[in-house]
Amino acid sequence: MTNEPQNIARVVRQHAEMDAFFAGDFAVRGDIPAQSESSAEEPAHCQVPASVQEGLAAIAAEVRACCRCGLDKSRTNPVPGEGNPAADLVFVGEAPGADEDAAGRPFVGRAGQLLNNIIAAMGMARQDVFICNILKCRPPDNRDPRPDEIIHCLPFLQRQLELIRPKVIVALGAHAARTLLKTELPIGRLRGRFHEYYFSPDAPPVKLMPTYHPAYLLRNYSPDNRRRV
Ligand code: URA
Repeated sequence: MTNEPQNIARVVRQHAEMDAFFAGDFAVRGDIPAQSESSAEEPAHCQVPASVQEGLAAIAAEVRACCRCGLDKSRTNPVPGEGNPAADLVFVGEAPGADEDAAGRPFVGRAGQLLNNIIAAMGMARQDVFICNILKCRPPDNRDPRPDEIIHCLPFLQRQLELIRPKVIVALGAHAARTLLKTELPIGRLRGRFHEYYFSPDAPPVKLMPTYHPAYLLRNYSPDNRRRV
């Protein structure tokens, strides 16, 4: 009992070290790109047509009112997505977790912290990109999204992507990658190379890069997995 403060200090230090190990100092090799224009003085959303901003706001309002798949009954807050409407880069995750459900914002828990570090290591800031999910509401107990839920929810994401028209989409994890690429291939086979995502039959495709979900990296940390992401 007498060394309780030391024990607490040791546990706190170990926890901080673990945190830095998993979520801190994410670094990429090579040159860090110059600061994007959107980080300059004029906020990026000022350069975006009002129709895009209004379109995204309309989708968010529809998501808030949606009760198509039944997840509205168990959710606290819907999570439509957030970020720069003029983003060149859009991250698509699986579905909100407990932290996101409580906040109504995507990727704000531990996986979100890691995603923020990954974005920073790319020389960008979270406000430069757009972040959203396949499902806009949390499945109970964080279970996998069901096919019927995806069918109901996917049009929201498709419309968001069509409005933003990013240069690159990063699919975080198997559910996002398989849904967007309409494939059953495992994430290990899909990750690490560019695929094509089609907005519509007559528009040119954009690049889609699948990678491991940050939550997977937190659970399966190894220098190799970190390098792969
Ligand atoms: N995991 C996801 O896939 N999305 C979030 O928003 C948070 C965690």
